[in-house]
Amino acid sequence: MKEISCKLLVVGAGPGGYVCAIRAGQLGLDTVIVEANRLGGACLNVGCIPSKALIHAAEEFDRTRRMAAGKSPLGISLSAPEIDLVKTVAWKDGIVGRLRSGVAALLKKGRVKIVVGAAKFRDGKTVAVETETGLQIVRAEAIVIATGSAPAALPALPFGGPVISSSQALALAKIPQKLVVVGGGYIGLELGTAFAKLGASVTVVEALARILPQYDAELTRPVAKRLAELGVRTLTNAKAKGLSAKGDALLVETREEKDVRLAADKVLVTVGRKPVTEGWGREELALDMDGPFIRIDDRCRTSMRDVYAIGDVTGEPMLAHRAMAQGEMVAEIVAGHKRSWDKRAIAAACFTDPEIVTVGLSPEEAARAGLAVKVGQFPFAANGRAMTKLGEEGFVRIVARADNNVVLGVQAVGCEVSELAAPFALALEMGARLEDVAGTIHAHPTQGEAFQEAALRALGRALHI
Ligand code: FAD
Ligand code: NAD
Repeated sequence: MKEISCKLLVVGAGPGGYVCAIRAGQLGLDTVIVEANRLGGACLNVGCIPSKALIHAAEEFDRTRRMAAGKSPLGISLSAPEIDLVKTVAWKDGIVGRLRSGVAALLKKGRVKIVVGAAKFRDGKTVAVETETGLQIVRAEAIVIATGSAPAALPALPFGGPVISSSQALALAKIPQKLVVVGGGYIGLELGTAFAKLGASVTVVEALARILPQYDAELTRPVAKRLAELGVRTLTNAKAKGLSAKGDALLVETREEKDVRLAADKVLVTVGRKPVTEGWGREELALDMDGPFIRIDDRCRTSMRDVYAIGDVTGEPMLAHRAMAQGEMVAEIVAGHKRSWDKRAIAAACFTDPEIVTVGLSPEEAARAGLAVKVGQFPFAANGRAMTKLGEEGFVRIVARADNNVVLGVQAVGCEVSELAAPFALALEMGARLEDVAGTIHAHPTQGEAFQEAALRALGRALHI
């Protein structure tokens, strides 16, 4: 049994944990990070990066397929494309591998010690790790819990056989002919769309009244329209009851029909993710919980002294960039800096077709908060750059306080709008007013001009509509 002591121990090397360790290393803290699986966590290995790689490959394939079908208004024609999913997955794995090596190199540069194995708390200062070479005890002055989240299963549809999680969907050797997706949220629609573009016949089963229920209906309408164009069937107000006896169909109950049978060679369950709060000795600690999550304060402190928690294990929004921002902040706090969570908003991007991006309050959320607002909306149909990209669907919407024009939120749906997350978030973080956005020269021709025009429109003086 080996023992080491350090200033900071980080449990879990997802985007929360590894960013925390890198920053701690930069600050000269003697840091150890323990990872049971692979550096980069869900985000890098089975989440953000591999899903976006698959989505991109599917988009490229679909684009060329439409050209081959003579449907390109650009005048391009070609013969029917083919896709070798094994090569696509190998390309995706190559990107993941390169990024993982990058994380390892950054940790090394910060002199962070990496311990590979599952950590188990013995007490609030000590963790035991089962490594390949035996038990490793790590004692630390401060500990960060960054154990992340895992796919949630449905009792009636446990993972196994044809029932797969997003991790398995990202590593298939063959495109399923008939894919049923249970859960029409982020993952279900991002991956469901990708598989539809790759040629699968896709049905989405969503429990609530509409897909992507976390967004307002105006934002999701173009996504629903495109799903229909791609031939994706969506069943809303629908409950998955289980697999058929032969395992070749999903049995579903909708409001209208009690027994719907959806033939499927794969059933992808994407009904949310659950925090990883078991299996690492939480019972040895006295951590207050917030529902299923670890309760934290505005410094990511838990109810135990010098024990912090960050990322998905601490609650919504379960997004990589939130985990990273928390990780960076906690490293600085442990190094003695005065920091607290002072972010005004966390942008969210959904990589459907078209993409959705939101930051801050929607008009509905502002109304619920009792705020009087001005709203300006500008359609991509009136944006030159969007037209040149065949991306006229969608809009940018800006929400500002009625009394002083301070921007409260920005939402957009449209072609590649995830890239607008940065200016939208910047506007909120810097406390911009409508006049600031309207008065900033936006390069022409870019889709960002729609942001400026939305602000101008809220001020009653849009130029291009
Ligand atoms: P995780 O990434 O879950 O990492 C936790 C790590 O802790 C894991 O590596 C795990 O092995 C390790 N661990 C757990 N227990 C122990 C233990 N006892 N000992 C040692 N190690 C342990 N978010 C976005 O912002 N944008 C996206 O586009 C996006 N796309 C996604 C697509 C998919 C398919 C999925 C599944 C998720 C996506 N997410 C996306 C969410 C994002 O992946 C998570 O929010 C993010 O990974 C959370 O980071 P984390 O550091 O909290 O935890
Ligand atoms: P989600 O919460 O986005 O969507 C789950 C969906 O499943 C919801 O629409 C819900 O109503 C539905 N649902 C729940 N139970 C159901 C049932 N029994 N039958 C049918 N439908 C049911 O969850 P997700 O798509 O699994 O993603 C998990 C998390 O990962 C997200 O919340 C997000 O934080 C993160 N993520 C982010 C991105 C991104 O930022 N682009 C992409 C993927 C995942």
